[in-house]
Amino acid sequence: MNIFKAMIPDLSVRSVRDIDLNDLKCRGINTVLLDFDNTLGPDHSTVPTDYSRECVDMLTENGFKLCLVSNAKSGRSSGIAKELGIECITYAHKPNPSGIMRALELMGSSYTETAMVGDQIFTDVIAGRLSGCYTIFVERYNKKEIWYVALKRPFERIVRLCGHF
Ligand SMILES: [Mg+2]
Repeated sequence: MNIFKAMIPDLSVRSVRDIDLNDLKCRGINTVLLDFDNTLGPDHSTVPTDYSRECVDMLTENGFKLCLVSNAKSGRSSGIAKELGIECITYAHKPNPSGIMRALELMGSSYTETAMVGDQIFTDVIAGRLSGCYTIFVERYNKKEIWYVALKRPFERIVRLCGHF
């Protein structure tokens, strides 16, 4: 896979709530790996929000197995996952696909039955694509984000323009 193709998600939606779950099921997907910061809640939050719970409930009620796959320090992301009642891989090292591979092993799922969901092209999308998972890009939860993520957004806009998503 060339690097440009690795930056283009299979699907781009406004938010986790906008994912067509029946379409995922039709694709044979039963496992959803989720980024947290600006995907399931505010960037660098230490606790899940009502929105986080709403997304998790929506997915679990539809029978999906869930795992947080976060680059964040283990204490913060595992605390959030525990509160949400879902599995967690910390220090995922996205865009390296190793964290996703660990998640697949933990969940007993194959990449063919797994979707990776996240708000950043240069971490979540690339890791998802390199691992072979169905990859879903979501718009960020809000505009407030840490400087080193904000720095990447202009480059993401170029990729999105070129990739038409
Ligand atoms: Mg994120």
